[in-house]
Amino acid sequence: MRGGACEWNPADATPARPWRLVLLGAPGVGKGTQAELLADHLGAVHLSTGDLFRAAKQADSARSAAMEEALQYMRRGELVPDDIVIRLVEERRACLRLPCGFLLDGYPRTVAQAEALDRLLEREGLVLDGVLDYELPLDEVVRRLSGRRTCARCQAVFHVDTRPPRREGVCDHCGGPLFQREDDRPEAVRVRMEVYQRSTAPLIDYYRQRKLLIPVPAHGTPQEVFARSLELLNGRHPGAAVTAATPISAA
Ligand code: AMP
Repeated sequence: MRGGACEWNPADATPARPWRLVLLGAPGVGKGTQAELLADHLGAVHLSTGDLFRAAKQADSARSAAMEEALQYMRRGELVPDDIVIRLVEERRACLRLPCGFLLDGYPRTVAQAEALDRLLEREGLVLDGVLDYELPLDEVVRRLSGRRTCARCQAVFHVDTRPPRREGVCDHCGGPLFQREDDRPEAVRVRMEVYQRSTAPLIDYYRQRKLLIPVPAHGTPQEVFARSLELLNGRHPGAAVTAATPISAA
């Protein structure tokens, strides 16, 4: 779903039993980085609704009225209305059926979206294996977000302190210019944190009640959090033990 299409390469090895996971966590906890590491390791497709909106924002082609409206909310750091997001995901339901499994990053964000996802999965005959919830104290979240820089061309993410690019303001991967996302600016960050508390935190209860919640402490380096995630996933999935991450010293 990244960039508006499934980034799945059928030549990739399909795992014996696909993982179907949701990733939760406040903005800035490193959820997107973990989603990429996990998608590579588990062979699952990474589906991000935030990436979908960002791709639409940058696309030259005409946007639907619904997408224009969605982007207005996004620019203010607010959640896009449920009916618009639910419809966008429904339109891309073929991605959920891929035999490689999926990692949903940034969706669902509200209980209404979680209920819509349950209905969609039920219709498709699919079940979730777990919901990884990345947890971090608020002051650490704010520090991480204000230093984040994104590549305008390939969307790679850097941090001025913890993951600086080799050349200031330039992407290591494609040489594109780095910028601060509109919704990473301080005023939008405050709104996003409030929105998260109000709308997304109830999801934690929703998934805890369904025995799907897997809390993951998100402090430490991305590799440390990744290794922790794999350890916690182990045993969740009948018939598919997760191999350990590359040792941190060798990463
Ligand atoms: P993200 O990159 O996941 O933080 O998403 C960036 C922005 O896209 C959010 O601040 C929202 O404005 C919008 N967005 C992404 N996913 C959703 C969703 N599931 N529900 C509502 N708004 C969303």
